[in-house]
This record gives sequence, structure tokens and C-alpha cells, in this order.
Amino acid sequence: MSYLVLARKWRPQNFHDVVGQQPVVRTLQNALRRQRVAHAMLFSGVRGVGKTTLARIMAKALNCESEAEEVPCNVCASCREITAGTAVDLKEIDGASNRGIQEIRELKENIRFFPGSRRYKIVIIDEVHMLTAEAFNALLKTLEEPPEHVYFMFATTELHKVPITILSRCQRYELKRVDFDTLSRFFAKIASAEEVTISPAALEMIVREADGSVRDGLSLLDQMFSFAAQDSAGTVTVQDEDVVQVLGLVDRRVFVTLAEAVLAGDLARCLEVLEETYLLGVDLKRFSDDLLGFFRALMICKTTEDAARLVDVAAQDLTIMQEIAAGVSKETLYQLFQIFMQGAEELRYAGQPRLALEMTFVRASQVGEVMPAAELAARLDKLIAASAGLVAGRPDPLAAEPQKKTVKNDPARPPAPPARPGPETVVREPEERLASAVDSVSQAAMAAAPEALQETAAERPEQAPDSGAGRPAPQPQAPQEKGGGVVVELKQRDVLREWQGFVAYVKERKPWMAQTLRLCNSPHLEEGKLMVRFDNPADCTLLSQGDNLKALTTYAQDFFQAELYMEICSLACEVSEADGASPRQERRALAAEPLVQTVTEIFDGKVVGIRTGPKFR
Ligand SMILES: [Zn+2]
Repeated sequence: MSYLVLARKWRPQNFHDVVGQQPVVRTLQNALRRQRVAHAMLFSGVRGVGKTTLARIMAKALNCESEAEEVPCNVCASCREITAGTAVDLKEIDGASNRGIQEIRELKENIRFFPGSRRYKIVIIDEVHMLTAEAFNALLKTLEEPPEHVYFMFATTELHKVPITILSRCQRYELKRVDFDTLSRFFAKIASAEEVTISPAALEMIVREADGSVRDGLSLLDQMFSFAAQDSAGTVTVQDEDVVQVLGLVDRRVFVTLAEAVLAGDLARCLEVLEETYLLGVDLKRFSDDLLGFFRALMICKTTEDAARLVDVAAQDLTIMQEIAAGVSKETLYQLFQIFMQGAEELRYAGQPRLALEMTFVRASQVGEVMPAAELAARLDKLIAASAGLVAGRPDPLAAEPQKKTVKNDPARPPAPPARPGPETVVREPEERLASAVDSVSQAAMAAAPEALQETAAERPEQAPDSGAGRPAPQPQAPQEKGGGVVVELKQRDVLREWQGFVAYVKERKPWMAQTLRLCNSPHLEEGKLMVRFDNPADCTLLSQGDNLKALTTYAQDFFQAELYMEICSLACEVSEADGASPRQERRALAAEPLVQTVTEIFDGKVVGIRTGPKFR
């Protein structure tokens, strides 16, 4: 007796056998019960999800002779004929090989006559998108007003290739990929019916490989059942290794191990796992794609609450992925995804895929923890603020508790008065280690303005006594000039004279901003605008960004007590406005930004990517 493959043996013969597709099944059954079945139906979806199967069940149901509510009955003559493939009134056409106008003409000729023995003539055209344009046109009229005794059912994997004129004349049913759990249950049921034992991991790999297609999965299962060993009692058992060996697939646990090793920066472990995988004879290109898919899933687990909807894996796998994702930043995952994506690309053209993959892991394991620049800037702000507070010996508004304690715990230092000696007496105390660390880094970063730090030290003590409760040092002419928010006359020489005071004022609020302001060459006033000009465009990139500029404008208005607007300008700004700086120049400028360099130095990191353009501003 010839062997019937699983896909045919287990082909659903009625609606409740169909795997997944509940909405479509329900609609079809209701249409049958209420006698509202359309004369032209189109089933679309990826391969092996049940398009032709549903069309055949529908054909059976329409011609079923049973009086029962649930059709098809599968016992009447009509049903049996269709199951056996001998029904004369059911015409199945393969659109790929009968695509011309001649075939359609013959078909139209044929359906003019009433059915021989059954109620309806039913035409099923598979892969209908393969028909020629003329063939489609020849069908139009018939579809518009089909004869009472004819039903058309089309199936296609490429819906977009079907002309809109045809689509609009059909009732459309879109079949979905079958989800992981449904497929998993179905295949487990088949395995037990076929008396084959299959390990959960092996089943999971097959379901994953099937990618939502029932037929693909059944073919794989068939292959595995034939391969698996049979023991003396006649029981066939499919092991994990069998699947790996026959299908070249990798257990998801391997990806979990690799991801954990990469995130821990454990290159040795990565290479070890790769070696094991390689020895199993796995297709590395395929492996690399699956790995990319795994990191995509991690990213989704990290970014969405409802990951189960987007990541189609077994529940326990999802939990593991969520746990991994929880312990790592979104930026790191993104960075790793980019690396593996590039790796997968390189692998496609690599003469030695294994080496390419290993190098990808070398890169990936070096990623470490990636942090958004904004977070780094905020940390730096805090650090510098803390150090400024310590150097000046008074609590800084931005650096709350820790340095206050330092001051308090120091018995040799009375609370406030000695904190404001003459400018030259401000020296770094040994216990102010944090301050000096930051100072030294700042000094390095501010090579362009070496005098800046001395200025800080010099002006701070003078500022401290006057500045009261964190307000700016009142300027000699400021009081009489602020008349209830009325615009005041601010002179260029006032700006020049008070500029250092302003920088100090900004420093109390945003230390990095003050560092940048020091790099500016002579600010000047122009029609109510305070123009701050920089020689090097790299110096002012961050400062001229929306929120930062807004904050700076507010500081200027508060400090000068005048209705003025800040304008940040550089030679390159002018150039780029005129003829547009290339994104590359822009990125280079960002990388040279003193703030960025200071941050990378303090945290001993490196810049791995710079994103620019309107989307990221
Ligand atoms: Zn029947």
C-alpha cells in the first residue's frame, strides 16, 4: 500500500478540523446557515494555511445532500465524491498552468450548462494571480453576474497581483499564519496519533521552522518521523539532536546562552557555543538569521508591554526572553541588533562564513552597556555640579545631599565664612577627590580655553557671598533697569562687562552649558538679540538645539533682566544654512563636541554611533 504523506492524511475534511483561522471558518459557516454565500470568493494567505482546503470544504458544504445543520456531512454521495476527487461538478483549475484566455473561454462554455447530478457547479482556481490580464478580463463579466448554479472560489498567495477589478467582485477571506501554540498542539496531537514520541524542544523547533504554515510543518514532521530511531518495542522517538541534524535547526536554548554571553561580554563562551553549533553541521547563514530574529524578539520584549502579540513563541520562552531583556538597556539591544544585522549581511558574501560570524561576536561582545547621550549629559551635569559645590565650599543647588555631608563631616572647616577667601586661596583639598577628578577631566576637555577653570575658581568666591538664595548676583544697574518686565535698555558694554557673571550664573544651573559658553568669542548685542558666536561649529552643536537654546534664553532673560533672545552662531552654521552641511560633517562635528569628549573620558567609553537628522532632534 502506498504511503500517504501526513499533509494529505491530515487534510481537514470539515470546518471543525481546520487548524486556526477561526474568524474565517465562522464567517463561512454563518454564511452557509443563513444562505448568504457569495458566488465568488477569494482566499488569500501564505502557503499551507488552508486556502484550497477551505475552498474544498465550502464546495462540499454547498453540494452536501445532508439535511443536518452542520455541513458537510462527509457521508453523502456528493461529499464522498469530492473527498475522493471524482466529483464531476467540481472543477479544480491550477491557475499557474491554465492561465490563458483560451482556458477561461472553455471554462465559461462549460459553466453555461446546469450541473449533472449535484445542485451547483463549483470552480476552484488555485494560484489565481497567475492568470493573464486577458484571462482576468474574460472572467469579469461572469463574476459580475454569475449564473445561479455556479460558485467561483479563488485561492492566491499573492493578493496584490490580482487585479482590483477581480477583487471588487469577490468576497475576500484573508487567512493568517497559524500561531505557535495552535500549531504546537496540532503537531503534538498528530505525533501521538501516529504513535511517535517527540521531545518538547524538537517539537518547538519544527513549529518555529514551519513559520505559521501547517503544510510546511507537516512535511517536516513527516521527515522527522521517518528519520527517528525505533526501539525494540516499536516506539519511534524524535530527539532534539535529530531535528538539529536533519533540518539544520538550532535549539532556542543555544540563542539564550549566546545572548547571555554576549550581554555579559563573555567572548570565550560565545566562541565555545559557536564551535559546538558549527560541529553540529548547522547552516551558518540560517543560524545568523535566526539569531537576528532572537534579538528582534528581545527588543520587542524590551519595548512593548504586550510582547506575546508580536513574538510568536512558546510562553516559557517568552518569559525567558523578557527576563533577559529586562536586564539590559534598549540602546544596548539596538546596538547589538545593528551588529548582528551587519553580521548577517556580511555572512551572505563571506568566503568563510564561520570567521565572519566569529568576528561579529567579537564586535558584539564589546558593546557593553550603551547609554543615551542625554542620560550621560545629565550624569555629567550632576558630577560637575557636585564638584563645583565642593570647590566653592558651599552647597550647590544641583548637587543635593552627598557633598553637603562632606562639608559637615569636616571638623577643620567651619560652615560658611572660610568658604569665601580670596580668589587665589581656593585650592583643592585632598578629600575633594571627586571634584578634582572632574576638574582634571574638564581641564583636558577645555584645552581650547585653559583659563576657564582658573576663572571659575576666581569668580566663585566673589559670587558666593552676594548671590543670596541662589539668585544671580545683582548687577549695579540691573535694579533700576527692571521695570516690571518692561523692555530695558541693555548696552553692548553691559553685556561684555557682565558676561563672566552670566556664565557663572549658567554654571550653577547647567554646568556643561557654561563650559560651552566659555568657548564663545565675544558675545554681542544686536537688535534685542544676544548673538553668541563660535569659531568652531562643533562647540555649539548641542547648545543650539531647541530645548537647550530655550533654557539658555531663559537664563539670559533672568540674568540681564531684559527681553532678549539668544542666537547661537558659528562660521559653519552660516555655511550650512547657505549650502547645507553634509550629514557626515555634522556627525564629525558632534563627535568633536567637547561635552561628548569629556563624557567619554569620564566614563571611559567610546562613541559607537551618532544619529542626526530631523528625526532625532
Ligand atoms: Zn454530505
